[in-house]
This record gives sequence, C-alpha cells and structure tokens, in this order.
Amino acid sequence: MSGPVDRVDTASEPLAPEPAPVLEVRPSRLAEVAGTRVHRALPRRGRRTIGAWCFLDHFRAERPDDPPAMIGPHPHLGLQTVTWLLDGETLHTDSLGSEQLIRPGQLNLMSAGHGVAHAEDGRRAGRAGHGVQLWVAQPEVTRNGAAAFEHHAELPRVELGSGEAVVLVGTLGDLRSPARTDSPLLGVDLAFVGAIEVPLVPAHEHGLVVLDGAVTIGDTTVGPDELVYLGEARDELVLRASGPTRVLLLGGEPFEEILMWWNFVARTREEMEAAYRDWQARAARFGTVRSDLARVDAPRPQWMPEPEAPRP
Ligand code: MN
Repeated sequence: MSGPVDRVDTASEPLAPEPAPVLEVRPSRLAEVAGTRVHRALPRRGRRTIGAWCFLDHFRAERPDDPPAMIGPHPHLGLQTVTWLLDGETLHTDSLGSEQLIRPGQLNLMSAGHGVAHAEDGRRAGRAGHGVQLWVAQPEVTRNGAAAFEHHAELPRVELGSGEAVVLVGTLGDLRSPARTDSPLLGVDLAFVGAIEVPLVPAHEHGLVVLDGAVTIGDTTVGPDELVYLGEARDELVLRASGPTRVLLLGGEPFEEILMWWNFVARTREEMEAAYRDWQARAARFGTVRSDLARVDAPRPQWMPEPEAPRP
C-alpha cells in the first residue's frame, strides 16, 4: 500500500547503516628458515592469530636452482604443524617414528602436545618448491597431551563456481576434511579465475593469503605476501580474480591468548623455560628423530638471566 508522499513509513525507514565488514591488509615480513627466504604472514604486529592459526610461512623458489629447505631435528610444543605444498616434495621424519614424503595436494599434520621433534628434508625434490608451513595453537584440553602425526593423501574437493576448493581442515558447506582439529578451524585452498562465492561461518573470524595470482575483495586487490584479515560476521565471501589465482582461506573460532616463542606455543614463561631446558638437555620428552641433518639448538629465551659464571 502506498500512502501520501510526505507520510513517514517507519517500516521502510532506513535502519542505521550496517558496519562495513572488516578488511585489513598487512604485508608479510621477510624471514629466513634454515637459509631459505620465506614470507611470514602470521604472526604480524596487531594480528597474532586467526582462529587458532598462529603461524604462516609462504615459501616459493625465486630461481629454478634455489636449493630445497633442509631443516634438521627441532622441537615443538603446544601446537600443530600443517604442511601444504603446491610444488616440490619434502620428507618428514619425527620422534614418533613417522617417515612420510609429502607431495602437492597432500596434508601433513603433526600435533606436538607436550613435546615432539621433527625434521623436514627437501633434498629428494632437489628444488625449493612452493608451499606453506602453518601452525595451529592447541587448546587447553590437548596442549599437554600426547604427540601425534597424520598424513592425508586425499582431501575433499568441490567445484565452486569457476574454481575448485580443497578442504585441508574443517568444514566448508557439507564437505568435511578428515584432518584432526582441536578447536573449530577452517583451512581451504581455492583455485579459481573469475568470481567465486565461498560460504563462511559468521561466528568465526577469517583471513586469507594469496598463494598465486591476485584476488579482489570488494574494491581491494591483494597479491601474494600480504595477509588479509576479514574479521567475523561474514556469511559469505566473494572473491574475484582476473587470471588464474590460488588463495589459502583460514578461519576459526577466535582463540585465547597464547605465548609464542621460537618453536613453542604455551601460556607462561615457565612452560617455555622448561621446554627450552628439556630440548637443550636432550630430555626424553622430545624423543629422537631419524635424520642426518644437524640438530637445531634453541636460542636462550631473551627474558632468562644468564647462568652465573662459576666463582674462582
Ligand atoms: Mn617444525
């Protein structure tokens, strides 16, 4: 029913404008891991976590003869390592006795719990390859628990408009990854050109990194080596790309405060110091790793006082 033009119809009065969804873009920072240059998208100043995702290194050969990453035995605590490759291959060995070659399209997921050690050796591929190394902070219920390792040779894939989604962890629509999750979490590789619509869980926060190409969200275009934080309260995400593009979408329930130091995630400095001492003392907690690569020593925590020199 239409009334007089000057009549105020409260039902059609515009509501207060919806706040624009969050879209923050931060440059990754260059870092070095065992002599290999990586682009570290997480953690960044002002953005420590997305869900329980707390670390993201993106590596890619800059020249065909760039040497592969060779990372000797090193420990982890209170986190899961997630390895995802686009090119190359890496041999994973760990203190649980696992020995697993990972290839593009496969997922390695190691849960450290109270302590684990592993080595990553790319020598067999003979080239640096392309991929991401991620960490997921473990929640209180599992972070002091047993270590575990799983390899997924096959992951659920689905056509999404003009592209394809591979669900690394968590659930996208009705597709569920078989990978273990200790908190509500999402990790999806999206390969597409043109426009795609990705369904999201509004109660979760999300973010993404471009692995290849460039993506436009709204009127913002981002390329590789930037972290895009998308906030919460989105029920879908529209991505556009003018050329072939690959994006890693991350999400999860906003996570509790964590401490990160070196290869450890904990809640207190005392926990960090104990893990540091145990690794340096070669305590049974971290086990032994079959690898001919050199063991990685822990740096001394910067807050720990130097040991007293013996008095003459
Ligand atoms: Mn590691």
